[in-house]
Amino acid sequence: MEETLRILVVDDDELDRMEVRLALTQAGVSIEFTEVSDGETAFFALKNANYDCVFLNYGLPDQDGLTLIHKLRAAEIKVPLVVLTSHGDEQIAVELMKAGATDYLSKSRLSSEILAQVLRNAIRVHRAEMQAALAYQQLRESHEQLVRKNQELEKQRQQIQLQNFKLLEASRLKSQFLATMSHELRTPMNAIIGFSQILLRPKFGQLTRQQADMVERILNNGKHLLMLLNEVLDFSKLEEGQLALKPELFDLPKVINTAVGEMRSLAEAKNLSLLVQKNSENPLVFNDPVRVKQILINLLSNAIKFTESGSIWVEVKDLPGNRVAITVQDTGIGIAQKDFPHIFEAFRQVDQSITRKYPGTGLGLAIINSLVQMMGGKILLESQMGVGSIFRIELPRKISISHSFRTSGAVQLDGKGILNSAQNPHQSNYQTSKVSMGYPHLKL
Ligand code: ADP
Repeated sequence: MEETLRILVVDDDELDRMEVRLALTQAGVSIEFTEVSDGETAFFALKNANYDCVFLNYGLPDQDGLTLIHKLRAAEIKVPLVVLTSHGDEQIAVELMKAGATDYLSKSRLSSEILAQVLRNAIRVHRAEMQAALAYQQLRESHEQLVRKNQELEKQRQQIQLQNFKLLEASRLKSQFLATMSHELRTPMNAIIGFSQILLRPKFGQLTRQQADMVERILNNGKHLLMLLNEVLDFSKLEEGQLALKPELFDLPKVINTAVGEMRSLAEAKNLSLLVQKNSENPLVFNDPVRVKQILINLLSNAIKFTESGSIWVEVKDLPGNRVAITVQDTGIGIAQKDFPHIFEAFRQVDQSITRKYPGTGLGLAIINSLVQMMGGKILLESQMGVGSIFRIELPRKISISHSFRTSGAVQLDGKGILNSAQNPHQSNYQTSKVSMGYPHLKL
């Protein structure tokens, strides 16, 4: 059933009002009519009730149609409005439409068909306009919301930036403090080591067995402390970007032999065999021998520390593309895949508890990671809990001078449990193949 429309007819001519009423009734439109004869009454009627459409005679006794439309607009009364014009009013029609009339119709053309058509069109146009206005309003509101959100985000960004600055400054101060402290502590530590070594020399007088034992303990603990201090100092220098490589041409297997020689007694003390395999045609590399040895010593001391029985292998191998690989493999406790990315972070250990079985600062791998990055190389890690670990360092045979300063970058973990330290943080270096060591004893 068609809805009943509420129509207001504004005309001072009663016959004209009747004509509109009849025409619309004949058109079969269900309508509830209200009729008024002047502009002022029409204004109050529209103010106090809702109408679906107004038929407005342009010439009214108290005011013309344009004035009434302006008034309605000022009062924000929105209603479909069809102006009925007499002969000669047509020129004004454009003005009326501009002012807000929905349509206009010459009284000479009044017929039920045309009137019904105009009525339907006016209502349709008005509803479309209302919907557009609503959508526009909603759009404006969401735009305002977005602007507000943007302002909030900008505020938060500025706060985060400020906090970042503060954190960076705190971190810089921390590194500076660590560097200064470890540097200052090294001097008395060297004195302790030096004097205990002197005390152990027979020419300074014979010590009793108990005294010699105590001085040896002082010496060993002093050496251990010095090593820890050196680790902290290296780390803080790396953090500050103050550690520079000193590359030179040297014999890599020789440096490996020296490092292995230094660690042999530690391995033997735990009954671990320490084997070296050289698969290299060209022994010469251009790199910093002190830092390469440091990497090796760190890897070997970890391998020895985390292995209770079995063997440790070191392999040096030529790689295609003028690169070399140094691999340290052990039959130790292994590392769970979930810990792969963390162990390369500074101060991170798989066991972070105070009562942990294995001592250490948690800086060794962080230092190795930074050094390898500086050398333009990468680290690959493969490990299995209870079976053992393989740390493989791949380095260019000749490091580039531009790599001799520290860049920041993170170690990356691929989907197969192989961890890969990228040589350049901007360049993806994933390798998905497993490290093949050629050692049949250990299947990882
Ligand atoms: P630290 O040895 O001083 O604890 P590192 O940075 O050298 O610190 O190593 C971080 C952690 O990685 C170790 O605490 C250990 O949990 C794990 N890790 C390193 N090397 C090995 C290894 N060969 N076998 C098992 N776990 C290892």
